[in-house]
Amino acid sequence: MLSAPASRIAAQQPRPDIILTNARVITVDSADRIARAVAVTGNRITAVGSAAAINRLAGPTTRRIDLQGRTITPGLLDAHAHFSGGGADRLYVVDLSYPTVKSIADVAAAIRAKVAASPRGAWIQGRGWDEGKLTERRLISAKDLDAVAPDNPVFLTQTTGHYGVANSAALRLAGITKDTRDTPGGTIDRNPDGTPTGVLKEGAMGLVRRLIPPRTAAETEAGMRDFAKAFNAECMTGLKDPGISSQTWDLYKKVEQSGALPVRVFALWTGGRSVDAAKRVIAERAAMTRPYENTGDDHVIAGGVKIYIDGSGGARTAWLYDDWNKDYGGTDVGNRGYATSNADTIRMLIRMYHDAGMHVAVHSIGDRGIDWVVDTYDQAMRENPKKGLRHAIIHANIPTDHAIEVMARLQHEFDAGYPESSASFSWWLGDTYAGNFGVARSLRLNPFKTFLSKGMLWANGSDYNVTPFPARYGIWSAIERRPLLGVYGDDPFGRAESVDVHAALRAVTIWAARQMFLEKKVGSIEPGKYADLAVWDRDFYSVPTAEIKDAKCMMTMFDGKVVYDASAVR
Ligand SMILES: [Zn+2]
Repeated sequence: MLSAPASRIAAQQPRPDIILTNARVITVDSADRIARAVAVTGNRITAVGSAAAINRLAGPTTRRIDLQGRTITPGLLDAHAHFSGGGADRLYVVDLSYPTVKSIADVAAAIRAKVAASPRGAWIQGRGWDEGKLTERRLISAKDLDAVAPDNPVFLTQTTGHYGVANSAALRLAGITKDTRDTPGGTIDRNPDGTPTGVLKEGAMGLVRRLIPPRTAAETEAGMRDFAKAFNAECMTGLKDPGISSQTWDLYKKVEQSGALPVRVFALWTGGRSVDAAKRVIAERAAMTRPYENTGDDHVIAGGVKIYIDGSGGARTAWLYDDWNKDYGGTDVGNRGYATSNADTIRMLIRMYHDAGMHVAVHSIGDRGIDWVVDTYDQAMRENPKKGLRHAIIHANIPTDHAIEVMARLQHEFDAGYPESSASFSWWLGDTYAGNFGVARSLRLNPFKTFLSKGMLWANGSDYNVTPFPARYGIWSAIERRPLLGVYGDDPFGRAESVDVHAALRAVTIWAARQMFLEKKVGSIEPGKYADLAVWDRDFYSVPTAEIKDAKCMMTMFDGKVVYDASAVR
């Protein structure tokens, strides 16, 4: 039965260029089928099946790659990666992430070294720590930095990107004193005498950031090229970049046209915070930002808009119904976070973009923020029903039961309301998160099992550079829910919301592809789809969960071309 259709295909179609054989092929198709071999012709998968059936398709010029029993999955996707900004950060900003940095003394040492290599007075930037991983387990202050950088302004950004710390030189340049008032949607941390500590949260970071020379186009471009290679080396072939400018869009096109962007990029425009900003974005972008009408080569896609409702779980600024906790058991009395800009204005913006037919994705961490966003989507759909816009809830950290019900209904009725979650938050930020969300709320973080029970889909993203980008960490975290260090024990998030490897893999393949409007083109291994494939040293479906985290990418194919080969780089 199998051989007849296979030979018929062979007679009608050109011989495959490449056959990947002797493999275990996790297809992630609708039946989660396992195959043994894949045929690739041009940039497409042309056949998937048994070794015998696929081998029969080969012609004299077909290249055979014997995978010696290794596992093939679809190329992994990142539904939320700050790729354009993060790529250049990797090259130009001091890395303060764990395990490079384990203490405030390490931070100071890294800044001292950068100052020594920089001209006097030049801006020094760094990013990537979080207090949960510092031995001192407290915020970094201006004072910590002044001794190592007396004459250079320094601005460091915490790993979530939602707050930063300036040294005294930077505070002086920005004119921030004890008389400076908090900004709208932002706060200046203060000592008991009212003087600034150096910590600037959310919108207040702008007071310093506007003084830092903007990144050059050449730097951003170099970052994209370099990061695309790093993605390929992790068996990754696509991503959703949230919140880009026209300049970044042009750079993506330029790098792609030069052949140096072997990943699919689905970009969200920065949606702004005001009605005027939204009007501008709609006037400039709505006509070309219809991903469901995309007729290009699916390499660089203008996808929709990104806006924010609230802040972060790392800075305790996300918008909650009840007070934030601290140190897991304690309470940050009176702090329930806030909407990062006027919540009614955000509601208006969502509606404007919805009415313009644009895909909307809103960063939403806190339970109150998430409710606000899903209720706004719900209202927009009832008043102006539009199917297929796939409006997203980025991160969706601790949704209420109400929010989950609304998301499930929006998915089923309108093909909208999809969580774009970050499973690895419970790992990489897990110690800080458990401390800040507290005992009860931590159990509600990333309720993937509940999503499944409601028949919901979600996409997973690393939020790089908030967590490390390799998607294997997201797969592992969705199953394990284990924090990096275990400051509040190994299990603050419980296992009740764990999912199995099948669901976890779908969240970084076919479900992520859906949120890039590419589910018919990538995200599973099926004839007709682009040949975006990943070859691994182990089988995700059969190894112990702990070993998924350390899986090694052996080969990556993008658009039918081998773009990474571990045996060649060694
Ligand atoms: Zn983000």
